[in-house]
Amino acid sequence: MSDLHSALLATIRNVPDFPKKGIVFKDITPILSDPHLSKRVSEAFRDHWQGHQLDGVAGIESRGFIFGMQLAQHLELPFIPIRKKGKLPFHTISQSYNLEYGTAELEIHTDAIKAGQRILIHDDLLATGGTANATASLIRKLDGEVAGFSFLVELSFLAGASDLNSDNIHSLIKY
Ligand code: AMP
Repeated sequence: MSDLHSALLATIRNVPDFPKKGIVFKDITPILSDPHLSKRVSEAFRDHWQGHQLDGVAGIESRGFIFGMQLAQHLELPFIPIRKKGKLPFHTISQSYNLEYGTAELEIHTDAIKAGQRILIHDDLLATGGTANATASLIRKLDGEVAGFSFLVELSFLAGASDLNSDNIHSLIKY
């Protein structure tokens, strides 16, 4: 086990029954409180994805913005915010999806991606895969290509990765 892996294991906080009973929420805020560990997380994402052929990083609201924007900066790529319905001000398309706890809709600006661009999707956590899959649909609707998926945490026991239909899925830590 790498140093980073054990530091993440020791730092990510389990919050039982949030936001509803039966869900064990993986709280990443203790990582954010630790600037040294946050920097190592950011560098680990950079080290993994640099050298891949990418044209942009799509980060999913809101925790996907934190390291997603840093990754885009490291790779000198555009950052594309994927937001919950009604938040983006310009022309949008939307996609509904199922969460581990409920349903929702995600949106993207129609001018965020040009046809053929290779986009990396980033979020803090992969659970059932519904959120990441909805984001992939948005990118494909704009004729973009999904180049891969990046997560800080993957809940492997929910098998969300198998629904993403990609051989390019990277997570810093799996439970
Ligand atoms: P899913 O669509 O089921 O893969 O859920 C992933 C999305 O929901 C991500 O944006 C996560 O931030 C959030 N999420 C789902 N389950 C959890 C969990 N157990 N702990 C923290 N965040 C979660």
